[in-house]
Amino acid sequence: MAAETKTVCFRCGQDVKYYDSVLRIIRTKGRKTGQIKIQRFRCSHCGCIHRNLPDDVFPYKQYEAEIIRGVLEGFITPETIGYEDYPCEMTMIRWKSQKTQLLL
Ligand SMILES: [Zn+2]
Repeated sequence: MAAETKTVCFRCGQDVKYYDSVLRIIRTKGRKTGQIKIQRFRCSHCGCIHRNLPDDVFPYKQYEAEIIRGVLEGFITPETIGYEDYPCEMTMIRWKSQKTQLLL
């Protein structure tokens, strides 16, 4: 069981149990789409669902994590060139306002 990560509920701190897996579609810089498999865990104490996300994917965001990180850390701005699929300024502002949720 070495690959299993220990996950606890963010709400009540109890252990969570494996629930199911879901496929999520992601979009990359090259305008290609791909699918990743995300494991879901359920807290047996309060019943809330947790998603075990790979390090390089943020929930519900169809941009590469690299770009999101760049925006959040401030080294990608609306003036930055080199990202053909780069987000519009409003998207960047929204990410910044959601920073806490994005990094959960
Ligand atoms: Zn819980």
